[in-house]
Amino acid sequence: MSSKKTNKLVIQKYGGSSVSNHEKIENAARRIISYARRGNKVVVVISAMGDTTDNLVTLAKKINPYPPEREMDMLMSTGEQISGALLAMALNRRGVGAISFTGAQVGIITDTDHTQAKILKIETDRLKKELNKGKIVIVAGFQGLSTALEITTLGRGGSDLSAVALAVSLEADLCEIYTDVDGIYTTDPRIESSAKKLKYITFDEMLELASRGAQVMHTRAVEVAKKFNIPLHVRGSFSNKEGTIIMEKPPIIEEPVVRGVTLADNEAKVTLPGVPDKPGIAARVFTKLAREGVNVDMIVQNVSHDRSTDISFTVPKKNLKKNLKISNSISKSIGASKVISDETIAKVSVVGVGMKSHSGVAAKCFSLLAKNKINIDMISTSEISISCVVKKGAGKKAVKVLHKGFNLDKIKS
Ligand code: ADP
Ligand code: ASP
Ligand code: MG
Repeated sequence: MSSKKTNKLVIQKYGGSSVSNHEKIENAARRIISYARRGNKVVVVISAMGDTTDNLVTLAKKINPYPPEREMDMLMSTGEQISGALLAMALNRRGVGAISFTGAQVGIITDTDHTQAKILKIETDRLKKELNKGKIVIVAGFQGLSTALEITTLGRGGSDLSAVALAVSLEADLCEIYTDVDGIYTTDPRIESSAKKLKYITFDEMLELASRGAQVMHTRAVEVAKKFNIPLHVRGSFSNKEGTIIMEKPPIIEEPVVRGVTLADNEAKVTLPGVPDKPGIAARVFTKLAREGVNVDMIVQNVSHDRSTDISFTVPKKNLKKNLKISNSISKSIGASKVISDETIAKVSVVGVGMKSHSGVAAKCFSLLAKNKINIDMISTSEISISCVVKKGAGKKAVKVLHKGFNLDKIKS
């Protein structure tokens, strides 16, 4: 790392795996100091250490399978307070002035939607005051204060969003996302070891990858970065290599047709068999689900037999019980026979902006899966992606087949 003075306002977000023990916190502290020594103002957004949030969720569910969401926020928000305070101590011990804050303390104001809150605004006065005193400011990621003065969280993986929102509010010069991989790869390198690191990726592609299962970036964080055109540098916290720049228009003349493959196994399929085949039924089903806040992803309606049909859709597994309750009441009200659910599904997707101008990608995707005897259960497409639902057990194989079939193991990054 060069020692040239840069005098920038830098946001650095450290993910949970980058601060999972005291050595890693020290490692983050060293990097932060190297930026500060070059004259930069640094705001650090930190995640909870390692699996802290998962462990808190498991603990809560043992005590109450349906915990009040307000209390879940009270509980989950504690993780980031611990890592933030420890990082501030590590920096102070090295003689560098640093102060840690909760989201509420630095005026991250959200709506009242517990566990999935949206950031409404950030009152940056306190934060700026500390920066102007020459301090490194550490902000607990993933949390805010609601308009009803309650602590809220922003949805799992939401520290990325805290970082991007702070970059927007503070008009930062640089927003870096430090994680346990060196950048964005053509697919999850934990599934496919021949995955290649990408130098650049567009906001749209990253948005599609994230919403289709690539957990490396939080979907809403990419949405906000795109909206305000804030390039993000995703990079490894344990190396000094350049990572991946997520931006609007990467400096590449020709776009590859397919940029990446993702796997998501956090959805379940719900089927309403024997639904009357007449106008207005689908509208009733999905209006009711939307009103209840159920996020429906894929939808398939089968061919009608004897004036009745089957409607299937996928929903996040984490709310399956609640969704089934709602689906049961819908099914009764429309005269459907019953509700069937299947949690043994996985969704594989191929993503790339080049698909806009190339035909045959879907056909190739289906033939690759067919050749490898992987049955497709549901299909959905967008302008820049194709997703197939397959049996959960075939998910990883499907990723590997598509990654190789679209030559992603051969791309130069
Ligand atoms: P953090 O704790 O830093 O927020 P996450 O666990 O949320 O990190 O995200 C990093 C993980 O995302 C990686 O360890 C990797 O397994 C996974 N991942 C999934 N898809 C991709 C991809 N296309 N490129 C890089 N990492 C990916
Ligand atoms: N600690 C939170 C989670 O595990 C937020 C984050 O890591 O981004 O979801
Ligand atoms: Mg994350």
